[in-house]
Amino acid sequence: MKARAGVAILGSTGSIGVSTLDVLRRHADRFRVVALTAHRDVETLLKQCLACEPDYAVMADETAAERLRGRLRAAGRPVEVLAGAADLERVATLPEVDQVMAAIVGAAGLLPTLAAARASKRVLLANKEALVMAGPLFVATARDHGAELLPIDSEHNAIFQCLPPDFATAGLEARGVRRILLTGSGGPFRATPLDQLPEMTPEQACAHPNWRMGRKISVDSATMMNKGLEVIEAHWLFGASPERIEVVVHPQSVIHSMVEYQDGSVLAQLGHPDMRTPIAHALAWPRRMDSGVAFLDFARLATLEFQPPDFARFPALRLAFAALAAGGTAPAILNAANEVAVQAFLERRIRFTAIAAVVEQTLARISGRAVETLAAILDDDARARAAAGEQVVALAAEG
Ligand code: NAD
Ligand code: MG
Repeated sequence: MKARAGVAILGSTGSIGVSTLDVLRRHADRFRVVALTAHRDVETLLKQCLACEPDYAVMADETAAERLRGRLRAAGRPVEVLAGAADLERVATLPEVDQVMAAIVGAAGLLPTLAAARASKRVLLANKEALVMAGPLFVATARDHGAELLPIDSEHNAIFQCLPPDFATAGLEARGVRRILLTGSGGPFRATPLDQLPEMTPEQACAHPNWRMGRKISVDSATMMNKGLEVIEAHWLFGASPERIEVVVHPQSVIHSMVEYQDGSVLAQLGHPDMRTPIAHALAWPRRMDSGVAFLDFARLATLEFQPPDFARFPALRLAFAALAAGGTAPAILNAANEVAVQAFLERRIRFTAIAAVVEQTLARISGRAVETLAAILDDDARARAAAGEQVVALAAEG
């Protein structure tokens, strides 16, 4: 047994990456940072390298890697700087790495995260898009290679904590699970008058009431596509049929999700909305460790509210359920169209309400396939991106 577990963080400069480093810093006696990676944010990755001295730093962007290399050399730090997609996979599979935090946003995280599973690592999965795109492949790869897949998404981490330890081998039904209750805040536009939704700006969409997150997931929370992606994520992580997954709107984000059992019991996991709790849980599992998150004070906790989801206000949620029901590569098509549409919205090229419209039209135009091989997934992902891109251009021209 090694003295310290080796950790690679894919996407260390993002919101989840920064929270992960914060937790690791509190437990330097138990974990060693082997590799950090980012897209092209040289300044943040440089600071992180100086603070925690990893063996490797990878920039997806080659030019950014060159700049980081120069800066580290000038600082006299012996960090090996790598670049590009192949090197992301390389650091995710190094023998000295025990745990891989998969915290790249979007489809870009798929290949390195799959590589980590193939290399039998403990995969701490924040990158839900990877699982949405390639659910069956992912689960099979993890199972065949004995990789532990631990959910970081707060809802799935909560559900994982509320399920019996043998749920994966026994199955939910055999363990008396009736429903998974996936909670979601409803985002910043839960109560915005419907006729104002088309005018909502990226700044308004990214101002989440309870969580500070990257821009893509913030917009997904505003459309509730995030909850839709999470329904698909829950299906694959827990082997739960779509009928057993129910979305519950809970504006305060104190209950992170629940599991309902046959006998009427409902188990919930609660805590402050701070991602360091699920991150510390997964890093330490099956033990527990300090996360830096404050403890809940029930005397000060105001009321907890619950509502059914509004599918008219949040059409993205309906589209995600439909893609899950369609199966095959439909979720990958949904995800790709959504990534393109969200990016276009963030660039102010399309309206907020056009995001779901682009996804819906892409799902209608691109027929998915039943086979879920990596080649089919990547091909349909590319076709969906092209189709969604065309619709963005058409919508942008309409103004
Ligand atoms: P973010 O935008 O803050 O960070 C994304 C990270 O990925 C950055 O380090 C960035 O450099 C890297 N990256 C982006 N594009 C890349 C590319 N093409 N190649 C390589 N690296 C790339 O995002 P985030 O909010 O930290 O979210 C990360 C993932 O975790 C997402 O899948 C999100 O859905 C999930 N997640 C986030 C939260 C949260 O609270 N932020 C909660 C649950 C799940
Ligand atoms: Mg979540």
